[in-house]
Amino acid sequence: MNDSRGHQVGDELLRDVGRRLRSAIDDGALCARFGGDEFIVVHDPSASSLRLGELAAAIHRTLAQPFTVFDQRVDVSCSIGIASSHLLVDTDELISNADVAMYRSKSQGRSYTTFYSPAMRIGLEEREALECSLRSAIEQRSVDVHFQPIIELATGSIRSVETLARWNLAGKGPVRPSEFIPVAEETGLIVPLGRLIFEMVSRQQVRWQSAHPDSELRFSVNVSARELAHSDWLSGIKRTLEETGAEASGFTFELTETALSSNISLASLRLQQLRDLGAEIALDDFETGYCSLTYLREMPIDTVKIDHSFMGELDTEDLDNNIIALVIALGRSLDITVVAEGVETEAQLAMLRSMGCDQAQGFLFALPQNAAAIEQLLWPEFDESTIGKLLGDQS
Ligand code: C2E
Ligand code: CA
Ligand code: CA
Repeated sequence: MNDSRGHQVGDELLRDVGRRLRSAIDDGALCARFGGDEFIVVHDPSASSLRLGELAAAIHRTLAQPFTVFDQRVDVSCSIGIASSHLLVDTDELISNADVAMYRSKSQGRSYTTFYSPAMRIGLEEREALECSLRSAIEQRSVDVHFQPIIELATGSIRSVETLARWNLAGKGPVRPSEFIPVAEETGLIVPLGRLIFEMVSRQQVRWQSAHPDSELRFSVNVSARELAHSDWLSGIKRTLEETGAEASGFTFELTETALSSNISLASLRLQQLRDLGAEIALDDFETGYCSLTYLREMPIDTVKIDHSFMGELDTEDLDNNIIALVIALGRSLDITVVAEGVETEAQLAMLRSMGCDQAQGFLFALPQNAAAIEQLLWPEFDESTIGKLLGDQS
């Protein structure tokens, strides 16, 4: 909140949250701000789990109502962790247990409540170790980026590449993005990580552009909610473009519905600013929820990427109510490019072609690969001079 709307709004919001919390809890219970955006409620130990669960639900309910701070609407959600002193712990341990449970709730998404159990500690310690290693990997710039081609179905040519973060942890091997990206998002490390990835990708764009001046290859870059909300994010993008000499118009920024919905007015502003720079916007992991459909109509979106979970639909014969067909039709009427993600079989490809889908991405065409492999794919090097050199070497 402080990152995106300033300290004054953040402070006032904290006061309002405190007031609502106090009105939601039982008489005699204690409520205090614990630091940052964390609050603690201390309850009489005789309360049953059922009563504590009800209390948590009441807190979620009251905080789900929008706040108005300095005439701005602010939507918040909270994650709740509940720990009991029945486990014969001291105060520090009790708070720490509640914290562990709260982090478990956070990792589940919005508005969750979790009761502490000792088994949760194991997961948390691993997570903290991962955070620590990721932090130093970013500092040492030992994170890598891979590229996965996106194919234009009408021509079969590679239209763009999606850039995907890769991390090899010494002694452990590759860590999956589904493991380290959520940790980076939760801890805020996604901001320096995203900055590093964008810098690497910008340098790659400049390198390929100068080696292949006729290339019209685009780069798609993933952006998390936390990056979009960070006050320095856009200026960081501009700075990197300036420092590397990369062209903003060669980039598509991929955002999910969650990233857009966490602060709609800020998201609209950022999308317009990115558009003003000359970049394009893609709505990633598209699902056909009400919000997504509204965003397509109201936000400056150039591309939708249909989530790969829908590709299974292509394996059934039933084309009535087929969501992919609906999205393709919608894309056509709104002049938005449609990309199918996670295409794995020839049969899926044939169906997408027959439905008129614009572009596709998936293991069927190519895995995400490093820059050298992608370069070989895009601009095979085996020209006459290479052959001549090989023949010369043999003689
Ligand atoms: P995403 O943006 O939806 O990226 C596409 C994911 O689908 C990639 O997973 C890719 O390897 C995978 N994929 C591609 N083709 C196929 C296929 O045919 N079948 C299946 N089953 N999967 C396919 P990856 O690289 O593991 O990344 C996972 C997620 O992590 C990404 O999902 C994205 O949300 C996030 N991510 C990755 N790199 C970055 C990054 O640099 N910044 C941010 N903010 N998020 C990133
Ligand atoms: Ca993506
Ligand atoms: Ca996606």
